[in-house]
Amino acid sequence: MIDRLTIFGATGDLTARFLLPGLASLRASGLLSERFQLTGAAREDWDDERFRSWAASQLDHFAGHLPVPVRDAVVSAASYRQADALDPRGIADAVAGEGPVAAYLALPPAVFGGAITALAGSGLPEGSRIVVEKPFGEDLASAAALNRLLAGTMSEQEVFRVDHFLAMTTVQNVLGFRLANRMMEPVWNSSHIASVDIVWDESLALEGRASYYDGVGALKDMVQNHLLQILCLVAMEPPVSLGERDLRDRKVDVLRSVRPLSVNEAAERTRRARYTAGRINGHDIPSYVDEDGVDPGHGTETFTEIQLEIDNWRWLGTRFRIRSGKALGRDHKEVTVRFRDVPHMASGLGVPASNVLRFGLEPESLALELTGVGARVGEMSPLTMTARMTPPGLPPYGHLLYDVLNHNAALSIRGDEAEECWRVVTPVLEAWSSGLVPMEEYPAGSDGPAGRNRSVPAPRSAEAGARVLADQVHDGVDQRQV
Ligand code: NDP
Repeated sequence: MIDRLTIFGATGDLTARFLLPGLASLRASGLLSERFQLTGAAREDWDDERFRSWAASQLDHFAGHLPVPVRDAVVSAASYRQADALDPRGIADAVAGEGPVAAYLALPPAVFGGAITALAGSGLPEGSRIVVEKPFGEDLASAAALNRLLAGTMSEQEVFRVDHFLAMTTVQNVLGFRLANRMMEPVWNSSHIASVDIVWDESLALEGRASYYDGVGALKDMVQNHLLQILCLVAMEPPVSLGERDLRDRKVDVLRSVRPLSVNEAAERTRRARYTAGRINGHDIPSYVDEDGVDPGHGTETFTEIQLEIDNWRWLGTRFRIRSGKALGRDHKEVTVRFRDVPHMASGLGVPASNVLRFGLEPESLALELTGVGARVGEMSPLTMTARMTPPGLPPYGHLLYDVLNHNAALSIRGDEAEECWRVVTPVLEAWSSGLVPMEEYPAGSDGPAGRNRSVPAPRSAEAGARVLADQVHDGVDQRQV
């Protein structure tokens, strides 16, 4: 384990909202060394005291559920350096100290390249690591250029391209549930699975983040990284181990098997849209183009849906759809695996309903929709077994920081993997920039653009007549975290 972390961009939103609370969660779980030191670096003319007082107030706000002594311990381990991440002297000062350091680039993506170049000349001690936030590049060429810079600075094992979705317990559960249950893997293929939908619909609108989001949009912000990573966990071959090499090799296999869309296919199988004025949870939301800091000329989408195929033995014939949108009427964050209908129903058994497996990503849940004996003799009806998972001990950024400090790169993205993710979305970006896919609109607070593909079935509900067995199942079997 290493004891030193320098955060570049330490006065920013990511540090306040996730990195400081992540460190506090490690401290609360006894997973942070007593010798741990945090150096915050940014261009603001602050001193140690000012940074500590800011950090304390952010922890109060974003990690108020943790005990005061735990938060105080993180604050008192902190110091501050005023440094421009593009200035080699400033960088060298911020990482100076005894022993290896983890240099966390919580910076605007436009600064990553310059900061890596400056870090390369800073004389990082042996065993140090560089942590790079998302988005890793803004297209395939820029991601490849960042990879070349990193390769000239550190070995691949010392580079952490982080994706906090991979540190979410529920996301890891997608792979765990598949591989730890004898009954799942034999049916985990296109002979039995008709479609997989990976959906991250949120009711949150822009929330003042135009400086980051505008010009990036839903495809680069969500699909290119987080949701393709989930696709990898759904579709990968069973790895030999969960070690960094085995896990990442198998993920790269999936990405390489995604059939490249032709520009015409990209036009047919992708959608983009942005929200117009509406209401969400009783609040008026302006049109995206009227949000503070938005330049309508960027043509940024706040909703996207893309349909992919995986050209390999296991998956040819299964439809994979990935969707993400902002300012929608409800949060719906889920992986939905829809099985094919049974080949034959004996007469008298009624109409078959497809089995559906749902991994709820936020809130964390697992639901399996089956068909069983109904309320009336001889009648089959839908049964839903639901498990609501206990929240994990560590938040994703706590888990991710633990891996960085303990040199476990399994859940970070390897350089070739980052480039493969860009390869998958490049034809979509090309089709969009050629104007082949119209920018649609949807009112904030709605279900998304009109005619949105509705084949993601809504979860069954008791009101809809389904027989929900959740409570019985809870009592009997699944009180444990799955
Ligand atoms: P902010 O704009 O809130 O903060 C950026 C930080 O970088 C500030 O501390 C800023 O301080 C500093 N900074 C900017 N330019 C320089 C420079 N040249 N040298 C040194 N410091 C600099 O951004 P976020 O914190 O939101 O995002 C940071 C990174 O994290 C981005 O890559 C983002 O994509 C990623 N991310 C953010 C998430 C979030 O929810 N916020 C979620 C997931 C990823 P100053 O101007 O004083 O130098």
